[in-house]
Amino acid sequence: MKYYSTNLKASEVSFREALIKGLADDGGLFMPREIPQLSHDELSSLMGKPYSEIAYHIAAKFLHDEIPAQDLKALIEDAYNYPVPLEHVYHRYHVMRLDQGPTASFKDFAARMMGRLMQYYLNLEKRQLLILTATSGDTGSAIANAFYGLDNIKVVILYPRLEVTERQRKQMSTLGKNIELIAIDGKFDDCQALVKQAFNDPKMDHLKLSSANSINIGRLIPQTMYYFYAYSQLASSLDEQVLFSVPSGNFGDLMGGLIAMKMGLPVHKFIVATNANDEFPTYYNSGSYQVIAPSRNCISSAMNVGHPSNVARLIALYGGRMDEKGIIHKEPDQSQIHKDMYAVSISDEQTKETIVQAYREHKLVLEPHGSVGWAALMQYLSLHPEDKDRICISLETAHPAKFPEQINALLGFDPELPPSLMDLDHKTEYILPMENDYDAFSKHLLEVYQ
Ligand SMILES: *Cc1c(COP(=O)(O)O)cnc(C)c1O
Repeated sequence: MKYYSTNLKASEVSFREALIKGLADDGGLFMPREIPQLSHDELSSLMGKPYSEIAYHIAAKFLHDEIPAQDLKALIEDAYNYPVPLEHVYHRYHVMRLDQGPTASFKDFAARMMGRLMQYYLNLEKRQLLILTATSGDTGSAIANAFYGLDNIKVVILYPRLEVTERQRKQMSTLGKNIELIAIDGKFDDCQALVKQAFNDPKMDHLKLSSANSINIGRLIPQTMYYFYAYSQLASSLDEQVLFSVPSGNFGDLMGGLIAMKMGLPVHKFIVATNANDEFPTYYNSGSYQVIAPSRNCISSAMNVGHPSNVARLIALYGGRMDEKGIIHKEPDQSQIHKDMYAVSISDEQTKETIVQAYREHKLVLEPHGSVGWAALMQYLSLHPEDKDRICISLETAHPAKFPEQINALLGFDPELPPSLMDLDHKTEYILPMENDYDAFSKHLLEVYQ
């Protein structure tokens, strides 16, 4: 199976090359040339199966000609050793808690698989790699934990100094070893721009840079798996078409879902839920795409993205072309986008109200990101009563205990910490502060990682 660049100016590559490169030579994102299909029989054979079995089946669809079955199985069983609870809320509505991994964020799903895939290939090649990644909070800790302690991979993480929570920061800064954390005086989009510039800088070629951000194809494939899993646990037959609500920032999570649907998963619609960074809902409603710069600060901070990288993939999946600046050179199939998705922006006010209301009415504990998803689902259902009897699954992307101040202010109690978040307060932090300046950043990389 081959992978093309969304900018259409680079040659197609294998999965292995796409994984190690991260970004295509023309600055585009890799996409599978063809989306593998699951037959009706294959889908029914997955119903009710454990997570790792479903994950293996989906991974093999993409990777069977690149990684031997036994190796792929071992890799997946090692990556997915934690539960994926589907919490029944009321009627046919559920919350899928993707927060039981080592960093209590859904980003563990992508990062753990990608880390193991890279390690697998680097071991075969006896090679080293320097991973550069920008984070708005949760990617960084998931990446850091996925690669922590590996001999042949070093990791540099950039984060916006004032825009991650203390706990998110500590999850990255207390590791040390092969993990370096840089605090940028700027926004997430600035961090992402610095990383992109380093990738396009010929002076960096010899450092063997790779990205582990949600732009890496190795993160996208694992994000298709939990959609299959949720379906296999909740649907009584393949005639059911379900709704997913996806709290979205950089749109990697949503892309995973859309690819799952294109593979044959019976989905009625995806609800694309953003915070006040509403460039996609605005595009959905008006047909005009405007980058939001600087991005808006919302309490669902991991979704403060003014130009989600993965929108270029979404446009490509629907037959259009968007460049990295967000300019659309070829329009995608708008009517199919409207058929497959419903996009809505949720304000901070609504996010908070929903946290309170969901707890009061259903004893459902949500944190701000999951609340954006749940609020969007409730709004969709009130506008579309014809869909009210469908199975609906809203994604909860972080553990409520990661946002103790907000939960306590709204609900009056502290959510219990998962084991992964205990002990952080007693550890030493390692952080390098840096201004938002490419010269300073590139000089540092060349000095330290020569
Ligand atoms: C990253 C993140 C999101 C957004 O996911 P994308 O794939 O970037 O759209 C939502 N919630 C949390 C908690 C996150 O960390």
